Amino acid sequence: MPKGKFEIIRKCQICGAEFAAKTIESIYCSKACSNKAYRQRQAQLREEKKLDEIANKIDNRYDLINVSEAHALFGVCTVTIYRLIRKGIISHVNLGEKQIRVKKSELMNIYPLRKSIKETTKPIAKMYSMEPQDCYTIGQVTEIYKVSEKTVYKHIRQYGIPIRQIGKYVYTPKSEIDNLYK
Ligand SMILES: [Zn+2]
Repeated sequence: MPKGKFEIIRKCQICGAEFAAKTIESIYCSKACSNKAYRQRQAQLREEKKLDEIANKIDNRYDLINVSEAHALFGVCTVTIYRLIRKGIISHVNLGEKQIRVKKSELMNIYPLRKSIKETTKPIAKMYSMEPQDCYTIGQVTEIYKVSEKTVYKHIRQYGIPIRQIGKYVYTPKSEIDNLYK
């Protein structure tokens, strides 16, 4: 059989070896490399499915997410997320060991969502009421969540949670505090 005009030298995407491509679609040098590519693709699909499941469980009413949720939404490895935190590129709240929270809205300014993630994961506009009945006093927060007043104020500052002083009490929205410490 005469050599087809499509025979071109390509580099195998798996092993890197150069080979003569028999058809225009050939991208692997051998059956072994082709099988390996197939297995890699299957593993990738399984991983993506796992990430989709994590992403779909995220409560869209809130902006705070943990690091594995950030990984699931944006496909950015957790090491990169920690580096962004260390460099001060994104803000974070540390609620204790392995309890770091970051803002989805900030990450969305840097990274696109993973392809399979629906646009509905965009955070909706923040709505909170500053009416006293919808707020905790700082004292209540320390009691309910067993955190010191100093820590509460630190988190409020770090995270831009609104406060309102009425008389001698400082109020902060229940929804934001519950989201932070839940
Ligand atoms: Zn190969």
